[in-house]
Amino acid sequence: METKGNKRICVIGAGSSGLTAIKACKEDNFDVVCYEKSDTFGGIWWYHSEDISGRPSVMRSTVINTSKEMCAFSDFPPPSKFANFMHNTSMIEYFRLYAEKFDLFQHVLYNHEVTEVNMADDYESTGRWTVTVKNTSKNESFTETFDGVLVCSGHHIYPNIPNFKGLDDFKGTTMHTHSLKSSDGFEGKRVLVIGIGNSAVDAAVEISKVSKQVYLSTRKGSWIFSRLAPHGAPYDVAFQKRFFEALRSIDYFDFSEKIMEYFLNFKFDHEKYGLKPKHGVFDAHVTVNDALPNCVVSGTVIVKQNVKNFTKGGVIFEEEDEVTNIDAVVMATGYEIKFPFLSEKILKVSENNIGLYKFVFPPHLKYPSLAFIALVQPLGAMFPIAEAQSRWFTQLMKENVQLPSTPEMEKEVEERRKANAAMFVDSLRHTVEVFWIPYMDEICSEFGAKPNLWKLAFTDPVLFLSCLFGPCTAYQFRLQGPHTWDGARESIFSVWDRVDEPFKTCKRD
Ligand SMILES: Cc1cc2nc3c(=O)[nH]c(=O)nc-3n(C[C@H](O)[C@H](O)[C@H](O)COP(=O)(O)OP(=O)(O)OC[C@H]3O[C@@H](n4cnc5c(N)ncnc54)[C@H](O)[C@@H]3O)c2cc1C
Repeated sequence: METKGNKRICVIGAGSSGLTAIKACKEDNFDVVCYEKSDTFGGIWWYHSEDISGRPSVMRSTVINTSKEMCAFSDFPPPSKFANFMHNTSMIEYFRLYAEKFDLFQHVLYNHEVTEVNMADDYESTGRWTVTVKNTSKNESFTETFDGVLVCSGHHIYPNIPNFKGLDDFKGTTMHTHSLKSSDGFEGKRVLVIGIGNSAVDAAVEISKVSKQVYLSTRKGSWIFSRLAPHGAPYDVAFQKRFFEALRSIDYFDFSEKIMEYFLNFKFDHEKYGLKPKHGVFDAHVTVNDALPNCVVSGTVIVKQNVKNFTKGGVIFEEEDEVTNIDAVVMATGYEIKFPFLSEKILKVSENNIGLYKFVFPPHLKYPSLAFIALVQPLGAMFPIAEAQSRWFTQLMKENVQLPSTPEMEKEVEERRKANAAMFVDSLRHTVEVFWIPYMDEICSEFGAKPNLWKLAFTDPVLFLSCLFGPCTAYQFRLQGPHTWDGARESIFSVWDRVDEPFKTCKRD
């Protein structure tokens, strides 16, 4: 790639991924411009009460289900006083503090929607892209040329609505969780929630506080994790450890899965509660919810089979003949991955199979100058993954590292597709499912930021033990490689201090 002066990078979207992408570009002295179609940063975490097509948001009450230390960017631990599982307003505050610390906001142009990304005329010799942008405040469009593009536009935008028999005849309200902001409007209603992912269960629990009855329809069931591990520790701080990951990866007899299932059933018997899936606990994206078992045991949520068909005023579930009367349906049936600003020549998505090399780079392109950030579904927090992918991109753009050849990348894409199909339950969202520690290690080893544990064992044994047996936070990926962070070692040791701090609200003798 030939460029005079600093390379110019375009970041599409100023959600959490866009912000960390800007940071990675700044770290490597690129000129970066971020176009954000809405009027604010933070993406889905910025709650808004209006239902705006193409602009998702969490519900008013949404609390994140990955804990603050595991969500943290690799060089920016969240403030100690923040709750371990942050409300969406605290998430926005965390992103604001991050953006202010690294001076990111000056690069964001709000109310600017990217409408087209094309190869520049000189792409064959430069790898450059033209980006067409609509300034929505002025209703004007313009086109700019960039050396690289980071697509950070999110993948919770286009609701996936399955074709249920009789749904067109149903006279009640139908909506997707994309449009669900709170339980307002469901007072005294009989509501069917379809799905068993985090959004489905959050919706069922939220609506059940005011509704007459919630039915939760699930085809497969799910293992339900609690936010709390023994002694009230955040579950991911307790379990997301290299030592456990190593055990899991060599566990051919699925002992770790059995132990985890025993542990989950200890809280409530998944079979008795109608939720026990046929698949193992690591074979699907986990659902995290502490309130669901309470709602089921109190009868405010009734678990049901898959929907057989809808009628004018209700629904018939599989294994049943009687109509269950309902007033409203909330579909928590996931999202379709789409990029309307890209042609199929650049990225072809078929049933959420994205065909990207390590879920980041289109393998057929000549240059690594177009990257897709956060287009995965991690069993863990998204934010550090988006950061690691962005850091990899900038190292590629600096030509410090290289991608393999197109055939090698295509082979990897196919192998990963098959591996995911074999490992996870067949579902749209599992096409992009990844285990957090192996995936972070994989991406960070591409640019030398994966911690060398063997070396640490000899040079810094205390840190080695912390990395192996302690929570695997993103700080581990700032110990070596480009742009290491002096605070990384200390932050690894002080994870539990920050976890414990918000509990110190009430002193007793
Ligand atoms: C309900 C829900 C709960 C979740 N809970 C968790 C959790 O507990 N932990 C976790 O790690 N992850 C969670 N996630 C995953 C979530 O996607 C990530 O946490 C993260 O918010 C993704 O950030 P993003 O920046 O990639 O996308 P988004 O937050 O969607 O941001 C994308 C941004 O791009 C902008 N944009 C889109 N198209 C264009 C365009 N054409 N031009 C310009 N701008 C554009 C949008 O306006 C938006 O601001 C959850 C997701 C949902 C939907």
